[in-house]
Amino acid sequence: MPSPDCIFCKIVRGEIPSKKVYEDEHILAFEDLNPQGPTHVLVIPKKHIAGLKEASLDDAEVVGRCHLAAAQIARDRNIENGYRTVLNVGPQAGQSVFHLHVHLIGGRQLSWPPG
Ligand code: AMP
Repeated sequence: MPSPDCIFCKIVRGEIPSKKVYEDEHILAFEDLNPQGPTHVLVIPKKHIAGLKEASLDDAEVVGRCHLAAAQIARDRNIENGYRTVLNVGPQAGQSVFHLHVHLIGGRQLSWPPG
């Protein structure tokens, strides 16, 4: 179900502008507004899913597509030497937008463990 107040659903509908990186029938990728590295792209399902813990088996394909799109964007940007795909799940992990999104962060040295 589309969510009328969800900012990422609004981006999918074109009601909020975004710097689009990739789009197909199932997913959308766009530049993060507050980038944490030279590459910081968000990849989202067009379908509203609040987050990973709300995803069901029916969502397995689209969640996989989000990750594979992130890998393709990393390939296209020549950052395959090291990048990270991250899903923040729940407020304590820093999730602030409750529409599932894969962060693709790269183009710089990444430390481990993350904070
Ligand atoms: P999270 O904290 O994991 O929920 O990530 C939400 C991300 O969405 C943050 O990195 C924000 O910078 C980013 N963000 C929020 N609003 C927008 C927007 N309108 N366009 C692009 N990125 C956004």
